[in-house]
Amino acid sequence: MNRRLFLKQASLVSVGGLLFPSGMFSACRKDDLFKGSAYQGKVIVVGAGAAGLYAGYLLKSKGIDFTILEAAAYHGGRMGKKSGFADYDIDTGAQWLHGRNSILGDLVAKNKVATTLDTSELSYWFNKQIVDTLPKDPFIFEGKNLPDVSFKDYAVQLGFGDEYNYIIEAIAADQGAAASQISAYWNSKDEENWVAGTEDFKFSKTYFDFIEEYIANPVQSNIVYNTPVKAIDYTNESIQLTDAGNKVWTADKVIVTVPVSILKNNEITFSPLLPATKTEAFSKFGMGAGMKVFLKFSRKFYKPVLYGGQVCAAYVDDSVGKTTNDHVLLAFVMGTQAANLHSLGSDNAITDALIKELDSIYSGQASAAFMASSVHDYTNKPFIKGAYGYSTVGMGNAREVAAQSVNDKLFFAGEAMNVSGHHQTVHGAVESGYKAVLDVLSSVKK
Ligand SMILES: Cc1cc2nc3c(=O)[nH]c(=O)nc-3n(C[C@H](O)[C@H](O)[C@H](O)COP(=O)(O)OP(=O)(O)OC[C@H]3O[C@@H](n4cnc5c(N)ncnc54)[C@H](O)[C@@H]3O)c2cc1C
Repeated sequence: MNRRLFLKQASLVSVGGLLFPSGMFSACRKDDLFKGSAYQGKVIVVGAGAAGLYAGYLLKSKGIDFTILEAAAYHGGRMGKKSGFADYDIDTGAQWLHGRNSILGDLVAKNKVATTLDTSELSYWFNKQIVDTLPKDPFIFEGKNLPDVSFKDYAVQLGFGDEYNYIIEAIAADQGAAASQISAYWNSKDEENWVAGTEDFKFSKTYFDFIEEYIANPVQSNIVYNTPVKAIDYTNESIQLTDAGNKVWTADKVIVTVPVSILKNNEITFSPLLPATKTEAFSKFGMGAGMKVFLKFSRKFYKPVLYGGQVCAAYVDDSVGKTTNDHVLLAFVMGTQAANLHSLGSDNAITDALIKELDSIYSGQASAAFMASSVHDYTNKPFIKGAYGYSTVGMGNAREVAAQSVNDKLFFAGEAMNVSGHHQTVHGAVESGYKAVLDVLSSVKK
């Protein structure tokens, strides 16, 4: 969501030394890394989210034979758009371009794609009042040497009282987790190489439209939809992938870009079994409930960004950066709060719970002005099953191990496999797709 605040100092820290150090970004945006790599084999990419689409885009640009097998009937994964809810299209998944120093930032600049810097001011629901500042700065989860305890426990250690609980929850929500689930140490450690920048941008159209136009359209004819991969046998030189309809596909190299939730749940079986270190690494990721609920009102009575709700820790004015006459508030809900809303069982019940909370914050104005809602729940969404991977207590180097290739045949990409600090983002997923293609080509040259 609003990483600008969370990462206000993180961009100053860059230690390098990981598998995909930050310095590689400028280098990896140069085509010469691909020079001399005319590969003759067949590549199969599993998953057509941002990572898989970008891997395909690069393979196509190199003239390499490839197919993308996508489980769903559509591409985009955790990106999408909905028309007709408001007088502008809403981003049902990813929405903000976090920073500009990335492959996608370059693509935006090169094509002069219309974006707006999001400078929305942050307010808080604190001690049952709306305030613009807090007695203590809650942005404590930055820098080095934080303890390997949850955000919640760390806040308690620093003397934050219960009145800060849902503000800390909002900061954790930005990382796709509940405050009790995410590690202060590993979250900051995993993000220390973040170099994309700290400003957030919104697309005048949608983030999905941008990916569609510049990355997905060129590879659409290579995507086979409704094809969940169930098994990957990499025993022999020719790798066999079996889909849910028992059709067998063959490839020389496979790039797996499915969400880490799918790998954690063993929804794809591997023969031979993946190394135990790798499956253990998958298991260390958190990936929990998450949803976006758009609430349309007849007038604007709310703050641009409000942290601290008990039902939803972060409410955001969605119309910022859009040309619109509508008033749309986004409830950005993650972790336990999302699980609680999900358990209500219907979009109406979820909407009612949010309106009730907004009424209590804004003195009954929400129900008086309410027009419509649009709920986008990723919690149990088929083939996604959660929001995004987060760093748990005891995470260790799981991210690096999870991202490693196996036998120069299987390559892993997707937001959770980004080891350069940009995980949990679209540009991070794209970078992981880049790295996977680079690794495929390097493996051939050996
Ligand atoms: C609510 C929400 C809001 C977000 N907001 C932002 C934001 O503002 N900015 C930002 O940068 N990021 C945001 N993110 C994160 C961002 O959406 C993701 O990091 C990114 O889209 C992930 O891309 P991916 O390719 O790694 O995975 P995915 O997009 O999940 O793609 C994986 C694909 O694999 C497919 N698949 C799964 N299993 C199989 C199988 N067995 N066989 C074949 N295919 C399979 C899936 O259907 C899916 O299409 C948000 C995420 C959520 C959930």
